Amino acid sequence: MSRNSASNQETNGVDHLYDVAIVGYGPAGATLANLLALRGLSVLVLEREADVFPLPRAIHFDGEVMRVFQTIGIADALEPSLVVAPGMRFLNAEGKILIDWKRPTDVGPQAWRPSYRFHQPDLEIMLRERLAQYDNAHVRLRHDVFAIEQHADHALLRVENLTNGRLLKLRARYVVGCDGARSLVRRLLDTELEDMKSHERWLVVDVLLKRDRPDLGDHSIQYCDPARPATYVRGAGQRRRWELMIMPDEDAAEMALPENIWKLLSRWITPKDGLLERPAVYTFHSVVAKGWRKGRMLIAGDAAHQTPPFMGQGLCAGIRDVANLGWKLAEVIRGRASEDLLDSYESERSPHVREFIEAAVRLGSIIQTRDPEVARRRDAEMANNPEMFTTPNPQLGPGAHNGDGVAGRIALQPFTPDGRRFDEVAGYQFSIIALPEAAKAAMTGAGGQYAVHVAHDERTRHWLVGLPAKAALIRPDRYIAAVGQTPDELKRLFCTEHIAFT
Ligand SMILES: Cc1cc2nc3c(=O)[nH]c(=O)nc-3n(C[C@H](O)[C@H](O)[C@H](O)COP(=O)(O)OP(=O)(O)OC[C@H]3O[C@@H](n4cnc5c(N)ncnc54)[C@H](O)[C@@H]3O)c2cc1C
Repeated sequence: MSRNSASNQETNGVDHLYDVAIVGYGPAGATLANLLALRGLSVLVLEREADVFPLPRAIHFDGEVMRVFQTIGIADALEPSLVVAPGMRFLNAEGKILIDWKRPTDVGPQAWRPSYRFHQPDLEIMLRERLAQYDNAHVRLRHDVFAIEQHADHALLRVENLTNGRLLKLRARYVVGCDGARSLVRRLLDTELEDMKSHERWLVVDVLLKRDRPDLGDHSIQYCDPARPATYVRGAGQRRRWELMIMPDEDAAEMALPENIWKLLSRWITPKDGLLERPAVYTFHSVVAKGWRKGRMLIAGDAAHQTPPFMGQGLCAGIRDVANLGWKLAEVIRGRASEDLLDSYESERSPHVREFIEAAVRLGSIIQTRDPEVARRRDAEMANNPEMFTTPNPQLGPGAHNGDGVAGRIALQPFTPDGRRFDEVAGYQFSIIALPEAAKAAMTGAGGQYAVHVAHDERTRHWLVGLPAKAALIRPDRYIAAVGQTPDELKRLFCTEHIAFT
């Protein structure tokens, strides 16, 4: 049992007031709990299940997400288990490239590689082990939240301990529903889901290789074959993933029988080469909630949005949500910002995640084409002129940044002169990146309260000059809050309390 598990201290808990209660201990909830604990808040995590979800789910995350894991303190331990991904190719039934999505494999602007393959249960275990190191975080597994009431200065959660059926009442200043696609908290917010119109059934199979099969390749392949759209992804270690679209007249349970799975996989692999892990059938949805906060209740991760996995961005979006929300909750709870700051969470994040979902839905419409005539027209258009797809890099919507130009864009992570990544110096706090000639003015403006990286290195100088800016104020989630050019501007911008940006 983890050091911070609270399940052995069974009281109805109503007298204790947590800063934040998190419903759901998936990747979004576990990451948020770590970020809040890092900021010194008291955190309660309530999770219905006894263990991490074992079935195949996320297999890819990006450099920005790795940066959040760096902030939490797990990146170095995680890195050896990851595989750097070179990109994804979309092939038609004849094997011609329709779309080529190249991912550079060098260290990128986030100071990590742009694209990694991983095993979601391993990541979740690591997030939980990290949280166990905090005395200010309490985890109750097998605790099901079934109601939440909002009061003037707290929210009251009604919870069932599933190990003995006892009912508990627990209090927190704020409640964040990281409770997945069928979120109770989202239902209690009375929020609508905007349907982005893609809901297809897929069979997802992970195979553990018994011997090396380098011929399968490191690129992900989308087989845009109208007879059976399919996906191959090289996972971490010996794990390889196949996703196979289920046709409308097919029986999903029948297809998921091992003998049928091996038939479907026979063009790539046979039982001689690998062991099947437990398969899963999913309907890939594409939705965004309209309304991510009501008073003391908020939602994050799959509770707030769901995307088909063709870009590998569902979990990534949830991690971006909680990196955005965590520092805002800390500022509000510590009394350094008004509650209005929490409204910037949806206004910033919703358009950002929407851009990824729209791109995934568009790619999905190419992959999931089942009509041979539509596929023929698509191939005629694309096979001789393949699309060079680039990863979206959206700006946040309006919110806690000064709104124009590059503010609201993700910032570069500099390396310090001694070779460390700068976020380690900054912590989960505001920071400043400045050209040498602007550093003094920016520091004076900020009153010495933020870590500063002075850009003596060409990489950071090049980034600042390209913005263009002499200095940039960076938020704890690593998005640019404001940039300045003149000494006056620097002093003015950086002495403005950041909460004034809302
Ligand atoms: C086949 C597939 C492939 C994918 N590939 C990728 C990928 O490559 N990259 C990527 O970024 N994303 C991918 N995703 C998406 C990713 O897996 C999800 O976005 C991510 O797991 C969502 O995390 P979450 O923490 O928001 O929710 P979840 O992981 O669903 O966690 C929610 C938790 O809340 C708990 N809970 C729910 N209700 C209650 C309650 N009332 N009380 C207590 N606990 C409760 C649940 O038990 C659960 O543990 C993929 C998904 C699938 C299905």
